[in-house]
Order: sequence, then C-alpha cells, then structure tokens
Amino acid sequence: MLERPFNDQSYEQFLQEELIMGAKCKKCGTLALPPRPLCVSCFSREQEWVQFKGTGKLTAFTSIVVAPPTMAKEGFNRNNPYIVGVVTLDEGPKMVVRIVGVDAKKPDGIAVGSPLKAEFVHSGEASDRKTYVAFKP
Ligand SMILES: [Zn+2]
Repeated sequence: MLERPFNDQSYEQFLQEELIMGAKCKKCGTLALPPRPLCVSCFSREQEWVQFKGTGKLTAFTSIVVAPPTMAKEGFNRNNPYIVGVVTLDEGPKMVVRIVGVDAKKPDGIAVGSPLKAEFVHSGEASDRKTYVAFKP
C-alpha cells in the first residue's frame, strides 16, 4: 500500500478499504488530506502515508435541502434534508463530509465544536458498491 501514488485515486482506494489515509511531508511534517504529491508548504516531493484516526470536531455545517442527483437517488430532498459539515481532524487537516446521526430537520440541535468520529458508509449495490466516510457524534 505504501507504493501508491499520492493522489485522489489512492485516497478513494483507501476509503474502500475503510482507511483514511493522507500524506505527510518527510521534510517539514505538513499533513495533506486528500494526499498531494507535492508538499503545500515546502514543495517537497518526499511524502509518506499516514493514517488518520477519524476523530475530530465539527467546525461548520449546513443543511442541504436541494440534493444533487446522487443524493436525491438516496431519497434526500426538501422534506428530507441532510447535513454536510467541515470537520477539523485531531491531526489538523479539515474534511468536508456528510454528518450522520443528527437530526437534519433540527439543525439548531447541532453544535459547532462537537466531537465527531468517522463512520464508513456504503452505498450502491454489489458491483458499484462504494464506501465513503461520514462523521457522527
Ligand atoms: Zn513540506
């Protein structure tokens, strides 16, 4: 697995294996999630894979009432909204992810700063089954 290139495809591949993997710069320690072949701080190409624990805090969120086609297919719409949030991982990087296990119809009950943890969610059937990461309280 350590041979994989530092890009979105590898990131996706790891998610299918239920791992949140990012890149760490060997020179300055900057973390990148999703991984990037070049360090955003010092432009070094010396990167290594690091696994993120999948714990963090909710930094911002929004309730999505107009669902994109893929989410509409799962039954989300104006009457059945879902929450997308920015989670700041304990390791530092931020992720924009779906927040599950909360009442999307009562966003007032969701507090910025709440601790969250990753949950791997599966969608689709057999051949096009896809795993993605969501966060829950
Ligand atoms: Zn660096």
